[in-house]
Amino acid sequence: MGEADENPVRSLYVHVPFCARKCVYCAFYSEVAGEGAMERFTEALTRELEQAAPRLRPETVFFGGGTPSILPRAQWQKILGAMDRLGLLGAREWTIECNPATVSEEKARCWRDAGVNRLSLGVQSMDEALLERLGRIHSRDDVFKTFDLLRRMGFANLNLDLMFAIPGQTRSVWRSTLEEALRLGSEHLSSYEVIYEEDTPLFEQLQAGAIDVDEDLACDMYEDLVEAAKAGGFNQYEVSNFARHLGPPPAQILSHACRHNLNYWRGGSFIGLGPGATTYVDGVRTRNIEDTARYCGMVESGAAPIDFREKLSPLGRAGETAAFGLRLTAGWPWTLFQQVSGFDLRTHWKTEIGELAARGWLQADEEGLRLTPLGLRFADAAAREFLRPEA
Ligand code: SF4
Repeated sequence: MGEADENPVRSLYVHVPFCARKCVYCAFYSEVAGEGAMERFTEALTRELEQAAPRLRPETVFFGGGTPSILPRAQWQKILGAMDRLGLLGAREWTIECNPATVSEEKARCWRDAGVNRLSLGVQSMDEALLERLGRIHSRDDVFKTFDLLRRMGFANLNLDLMFAIPGQTRSVWRSTLEEALRLGSEHLSSYEVIYEEDTPLFEQLQAGAIDVDEDLACDMYEDLVEAAKAGGFNQYEVSNFARHLGPPPAQILSHACRHNLNYWRGGSFIGLGPGATTYVDGVRTRNIEDTARYCGMVESGAAPIDFREKLSPLGRAGETAAFGLRLTAGWPWTLFQQVSGFDLRTHWKTEIGELAARGWLQADEEGLRLTPLGLRFADAAAREFLRPEA
């Protein structure tokens, strides 16, 4: 292990690349879990953690995937034991993504005892037929059972992930899912529209003409989401994210907003470990190889498992930061953006700001800029206007 870094990175992401089977819409990197592959991955991850530890003092940790909860307890014990030895415990927020069908009391206990304090449940829908349509392995019953189990184990910060505009989903089915999910009383809610990503079975079905995409219905469903979340006591703080408890002005920090993701949206540094994980430190982005066997082989032979590296120009970096932060309902206060990026939005993005404001997507005043409710619906398109790929 090297010397501890004087300016350590505060945010750690770990990609666990295994799932029980592949969901029809999913383009994330993951493979079907095999026992031997999970053991080998755990060993390799432990070595990568050892390499990264001197540069890290994590305040937020996020295990995503894939399905991190699919790892057997024995593998979790090894990973958590290594993090303990390496001084990586004690994060203020530590999230693990879970599939409701792969959480056991033993695993939950081992997470809790190590300091994991936030669990994110991939619910997607409360409708059995749609769960099957999506290729999910869990049932609606698993959602209730796992939610209760986690509460009994003392987890006080739970997120539910939902999905809308699923082919075959009617507005009334979506509203029932929202109602049931809100009734569970989680602290956080994330909800995304189905995306037709290339190389997924869902995309093929779309290409084959087996799916009708109804954009108006998707817009209505998004409105249902925003309204139901508000009525259920949530504050929207990002296009797709809602949390309880709004703190006092001017910061208005939501005590249950996902701090790990806030760091991404505000352009902060992070280290990503595991196959396909991205690291972003000092304007340099690297990505690990998206192949678990090759990732393990590289780590075992002492090589950095990196297959992509780019250094962004200062303006290119600022453009990305602007685009990410625009997703937050708070938008960008002018001074904060200048502190974070070294650039003034009013000078370098004057034309884009004017055009988006004229479209009714964006509001700017003496404090800063933020998307309007209409703009939030088209946040990806609005954000693209701020990118400076040529810079
Ligand atoms: S469980 Fe998550 S990561 Fe795995 S295939 Fe389904 S959507 Fe993708």
